[in-house]
Amino acid sequence: MKKLKYILILFSIINYAQGVKTFFESPEGKHFISADLHIHTVFSDGSVWPTIRVDEALKDSIDMISLTEHLEYQSHLRDIPHPDRNRSFQIAGGYVKNQPLAVVHGTEITKGMPPGHFNAIFINDANKFFDNEKKPLDFNKAIKEANKQGAFVFWNHPHWESQRRDGIARLDPVHNEIINKNYLHGIEVVNMSTFSEEALQIALENDLTIMGTSDVHVLIDWDFNNEKESYHRPLTFIISENRTLKSTSDALFNGDTFIWFHDLIIGKEENLKMVAHENFSIKSHGYDFKDYNSKQILKLELINSSVVPLKLRYTGEYNFHTEFNFFEIKPRSKIEVYLKTIKILDNLELPFEILNYVIAPKTNLSITKNISIK
Ligand SMILES: [Zn+2]
Ligand SMILES: [Zn+2]
Repeated sequence: MKKLKYILILFSIINYAQGVKTFFESPEGKHFISADLHIHTVFSDGSVWPTIRVDEALKDSIDMISLTEHLEYQSHLRDIPHPDRNRSFQIAGGYVKNQPLAVVHGTEITKGMPPGHFNAIFINDANKFFDNEKKPLDFNKAIKEANKQGAFVFWNHPHWESQRRDGIARLDPVHNEIINKNYLHGIEVVNMSTFSEEALQIALENDLTIMGTSDVHVLIDWDFNNEKESYHRPLTFIISENRTLKSTSDALFNGDTFIWFHDLIIGKEENLKMVAHENFSIKSHGYDFKDYNSKQILKLELINSSVVPLKLRYTGEYNFHTEFNFFEIKPRSKIEVYLKTIKILDNLELPFEILNYVIAPKTNLSITKNISIK
């Protein structure tokens, strides 16, 4: 047992490799780890083998996944009986070797509402969630066991219409209890095709980590990555110091995440400020250019370095020469705009709202860009 623990600790401080694609530019000393931490396979009620989940994640260039099989629900049990509940993780973990993907051990504690469904990730033994008679532990015992194993625990789809008919995420006393005991660490604000502003509010008020997951059961390309709609699976980006499991798990416990869902970026203000700072830049071309017959109009380049469009509303006092105050910059592209500053300036502050960056219910991120004019 001691030896196993030693191996686990050693493994957790080894760097895992980076996926081939960079979704967002990150600041020096920070890594944005792309993660989908809620996935199913045939080992619960999904319809694919664990190795397919690994291949899908590699294809999507994701850094980290967790196969979170239901403890209480296995629809393929007759054909795939597996008393060892770690098998899904073991198969995926064995298959992924030397590939740029980390597979972390997880499970889904699946109860009627309230409580609801809860993922425990970074566990070391899913079999311990059963009693001597092989029955799943009741909710309180299961949450306790997850915490005993050092797991990061998050509430899945608190707004799921099967468990909350009005689609509103809200806390029952039992949820407040596990929050107060520090047994619950995160909450899904995005699950599959749904986004809950109420869950976002709960996350902000209770200092829970903001999570977005695919909760995929079928092939990923059937639910997402649909070319016609240009969707992709929801991802949680974990703002980690380095690419070790230890640092990534610390960042999760710390609440250092943001979500990419459709064209939205959702997260705490401080985290989205960091994303905006690194991925939205403005370059000045000065007043001396040939596009217009004037040396008093300023030419600017607005650059989007991320894979997500930037939907900007300029909120300052100046007017543009060719545009209104709304701009959309496509992924990894730039646009040129002309600003009427009236006086010739050496530097300038431009305030924007980023309409698709969400920091709270009904609230966009506001930022100010400082530009020195050449
Ligand atoms: Zn669930
Ligand atoms: Zn699930």
